[in-house]
Amino acid sequence: MKLELLAENLGFQQKDGAFSKQILGYKASLVMYKIPGSYVKIPMVIFVFSQTIDKEQTKKIAKAAGLKGAIKESVALQDNAILTQAKFGKKEKFDAHLEKLAITFKELDLKELDYCPYCGQTETDGIRVIKGAAVHVHDACVKDFVEKVTTHLETVGTSKENLLKSILYAVVGGFVGLLPSIIILAFVGFYSAWLFILIPFAAFYGFKKGGAQRGSYVMVIIALISFILAPGFMVYAYAEYAAAYNYTLAEAFEIAEFRAEFLTDLAMSVLFTAIAVSVSWKTIYKQTHGQIKKDIEELKG
Ligand SMILES: [Zn+2]
Repeated sequence: MKLELLAENLGFQQKDGAFSKQILGYKASLVMYKIPGSYVKIPMVIFVFSQTIDKEQTKKIAKAAGLKGAIKESVALQDNAILTQAKFGKKEKFDAHLEKLAITFKELDLKELDYCPYCGQTETDGIRVIKGAAVHVHDACVKDFVEKVTTHLETVGTSKENLLKSILYAVVGGFVGLLPSIIILAFVGFYSAWLFILIPFAAFYGFKKGGAQRGSYVMVIIALISFILAPGFMVYAYAEYAAAYNYTLAEAFEIAEFRAEFLTDLAMSVLFTAIAVSVSWKTIYKQTHGQIKKDIEELKG
């Protein structure tokens, strides 16, 4: 869907390279937002604030947002923005939704970001579009920030110190994340895709504990560990099952029923791992250098 068309439909004006309008004193910007772990982009509206939105505030905002939802985003500062879904339809109805949110922002005493997020000064001389919202900055501050971060990524960021330790910790973490699935499977005899989600998260937690730099390749390591552990456990469980009847896995595989069951379970475990990896992707990616590089690219303009 063309953003211009939706902007016209919902009454957003193009200004400073972004689509925005004022809602009870708050600037709302219309943006295209990528759904975590997919290639789907949906139109959303973003509000940017001068401070991090805490858990309590998030809860209240989510309640006010209802079905249209509220997602936290970082715009130059940490978790200082709120996204809500934008849809084609009656402008008045959508405005009412945005006003409801704005009233909640007021109640929570959230202030709009009205200073340069890099130095804190209010007199600014430049504008950057960050995550679809126009942010007032100092050109010099952005330049400094980009340089500093780029240098950091190129020096400290490429260090391989602790990498092996981190990978080992990630494998251990992955095993710990697999445990609930093993227990459930052993006692109840079914899988839960939601339990599989623990595997990538636990593996990533392990990686962080190891203390290595978090380059973009961490995503590959986490995905690999998840895809080896979960289906690997399936194969192990079936080998044990076959051994109980004094068969090797290869011998048991000759039995059509065993083969069918094995292949179904293997396919399911691969599918569930894929779901788990894709669902956890955005949360993990946010904590890697990949995200920082992307943010920096946006700032360079
Ligand atoms: Zn500044």
